[in-house]
Amino acid sequence: MSMKTIAVLGSTGSIGRQTLEVLRAHPELGHVGALCAHGNAELLLAQALAFRPALVGIADEAAADALRPYLPEGTHLEVGPQAATVAAALTEVDTVVNGVSGFAGTEPLLAALRAQKTVALANKESIVCAHKLVDEALRHGGKIVPVDSEQSAIFQCLCGGAHSEVKRLWLTASGGPFRTLPKERLCAVTAEDALHHPTWSMGAKITIDSATLFNKGLEIMEASYLFGIDGARISVLVHPESIVHSMVEFSDSSVLAQLSRPDMRLAIHYALAWPARMPSAFGALNLAEAGKLTFEAPDEERFPSIPLAYAALAEGEVLPIAYNAANEAAVARFRSGEIGFCGVFHAVEYAMAHISRGTIRTFADILETDREARSLAEKAMEKKI
Ligand code: NDP
Ligand code: MG
Repeated sequence: MSMKTIAVLGSTGSIGRQTLEVLRAHPELGHVGALCAHGNAELLLAQALAFRPALVGIADEAAADALRPYLPEGTHLEVGPQAATVAAALTEVDTVVNGVSGFAGTEPLLAALRAQKTVALANKESIVCAHKLVDEALRHGGKIVPVDSEQSAIFQCLCGGAHSEVKRLWLTASGGPFRTLPKERLCAVTAEDALHHPTWSMGAKITIDSATLFNKGLEIMEASYLFGIDGARISVLVHPESIVHSMVEFSDSSVLAQLSRPDMRLAIHYALAWPARMPSAFGALNLAEAGKLTFEAPDEERFPSIPLAYAALAEGEVLPIAYNAANEAAVARFRSGEIGFCGVFHAVEYAMAHISRGTIRTFADILETDREARSLAEKAMEKKI
């Protein structure tokens, strides 16, 4: 197999740093053709000096000054909000790791697919918001290999049968830090409490999403769009040990599961080695040590993020975008202490109820809905309506 040339978008984040760790341990997977971040010039520079990519991209123009004079000679520096999109479509790159956080990952995903790249997709907000344009872009010949652990598990389990033989996707969820917290205490938790995830170490936004279960809601939609399975055939199962990463049930009632230690480097390694399986330096699973695997149904009353996701998925036009945008706006305010934990549920519920309905056809339509949903969420949060 020929060496891959890899663009790492969001290289300074949790997924990006782990991707570079995997490539450091496994140079046989490929080499780095581009690195891209938002504003962390210091770490981006250190990465650029270590991996010597053809292109370095940084979205924040002020931060670029701390980078420009120190880059190795011959490195192209792309500065501005388009940087990740430029890196995603770079001619010499064939594989793009999308580890940008939030809605900002959307244009790079579309650009990479249109340029026929293979995208190792960690960013889920993009496919939730732009699933229609993603379907269109995939016709150009690009591919998506999921990095999100649940979707990677399903992707792997789907090899066990034909698409027409799939009865149900079972998405597992850790349940987050408040899995057992009574309803009357849930609204009083702080951002600091929410940032202590029991099994995974991730970026701040997805860690909050794991506490509210908005992460699982986004993944219900992500799974539906990645695998072409409607919401009625996707279920969530809380599994606090985070060892079974998800499952596929087939028509004969046989269920295939994918298991590993909760370590994103394994899912990243799988996506970069795909379509091959290659030896990995990371975390062999010891089930005797793990001992017990437990499962329970999610509590949709304490976590309305789950039923709201099914409602958004059933509509499939503006609601997935509104769900995501309102959540992003609310997570930012929750992190800065301006709203409480349950305020996040309320903001999303309000934005979904009041968003202008219509059909999504273009990226401009997505942007417009995204902006409207953010301002509806702000209104709900300011006036506490
Ligand atoms: P982080 O917040 O740790 O990192 C985000 C990265 O994106 C940073 O490198 C940041 O740069 C960069 N970035 C943000 N905005 C832009 C932009 N406009 N242009 C270019 N780069 C940008 O997030 P995570 O790594 O935790 O998550 C990334 C994505 O992967 C999310 O969509 C998340 O849901 C998904 N995911 C993450 C998992 C995890 O374990 N972390 C697991 C499964 C999915 P800077 O540092 O300069 O701000
Ligand atoms: Mg996940």
